[in-house]
Amino acid sequence: MWLQLSIATHALQSHRRKGPYKWSSTMAHQFPALSTEQKKELSDIAQRIVKDGRGILAADESVGTMGSRLKRINVENIEENRRFFRNLLFTADPKLNESIGGVILFHETLYQKSSDGVLFPKLLKDQGIVVGIKVDKGVAPLAGTDGESTTQGLDGLAERCAQYKKDGADFAKWRCVLKITDHAPSTLAIYENANVLARYASICQQNGLVPIVEPEILCDGEHDLRRCQYETEKVLSAVYHSLVQHHVYLEGTLLKPNMVTAGQSCPQKFTPEEVAMATVTALSRTVPPAVPGICFLSGGQSEEEASLNLNAMNRCSIVRPWRLSFSYGRALQASALSAWVGKTENKKAAQEAFAKRAKINGLASVGKYVPSGSSDSASSTSLFQASYSY
Ligand code: 13P
Repeated sequence: MWLQLSIATHALQSHRRKGPYKWSSTMAHQFPALSTEQKKELSDIAQRIVKDGRGILAADESVGTMGSRLKRINVENIEENRRFFRNLLFTADPKLNESIGGVILFHETLYQKSSDGVLFPKLLKDQGIVVGIKVDKGVAPLAGTDGESTTQGLDGLAERCAQYKKDGADFAKWRCVLKITDHAPSTLAIYENANVLARYASICQQNGLVPIVEPEILCDGEHDLRRCQYETEKVLSAVYHSLVQHHVYLEGTLLKPNMVTAGQSCPQKFTPEEVAMATVTALSRTVPPAVPGICFLSGGQSEEEASLNLNAMNRCSIVRPWRLSFSYGRALQASALSAWVGKTENKKAAQEAFAKRAKINGLASVGKYVPSGSSDSASSTSLFQASYSY
């Protein structure tokens, strides 16, 4: 018994020293769903995505969500405009792969081509970037709660995952949404969403896709930092309880959580260092060291805020056994959209704006971002939208 404990303690300590890059096939349950080869493949994919400060570009906005982005810059929501903008991002910089390890696509985008006629998955893979796909079918009301939700899309998920794998995807995303009010998140919403995330994750792994597990707590509300930390800890501990119950292979997953921030309408403002301490404390209490990477969503923060908070997390004094990186949608694309405004002649300026944010977030993922002190107005504009859908 003592020997076993001492071996386990030694393994954990050596894991912490070396970081999460040691592949382990050990799984402590009776009916393993994955072969040793499947586990190795999943673990390798997850590690590649977050290697050396790399993060994820979330370019998986549904047609409707992309429509609201384009509407803000007076661009028509037609397939060619959506393709043009994504093409602009994916060809922004030959050095993009130094900061972007993975790109999440929407179904339509997976089958679109670059302006030179190359399918987007090939275009990304040729740059060494791992291709991801959004596989959920959006949020649905959760009856018996005060306006809370679950996420649908389990029907046919195994078949969709198998097809996406054949078509070039190696990881997937499924977003669950929780909110903080006087009555929420309810126990029902926490456990329902944790369970559906675990079912999704298990199905993805059986089909060779690394699941990004995304339990997003929205930042709508007046709550302060402590309340968000408390609820984040509750939600994440339920998520990992469910993942373990469903025998999900944690080394072959990535977590995509909200940062711990005060609600959008909270009168008190908190520094990046305070956000970092609250977030890393919550994660260290709930996320097992077996998880290779935690890639935050930006959740309505401005581009600059999201970069500064991530940078502060990677500089804080708490032990971090996982990579702390980004999987931003709005906080990687806002400046590029403002620079583009639908005009072909602005393509280069938009690409430069995106490449700049990607580089900054790559630096923030290793705690090396030194702000110049002069962020432009697009990058410091809040990107908050009430009850955000994706
Ligand atoms: P934001 O970074 O815009 O919050 O979106 C990330 C995402 O993929 C949400 O599912």
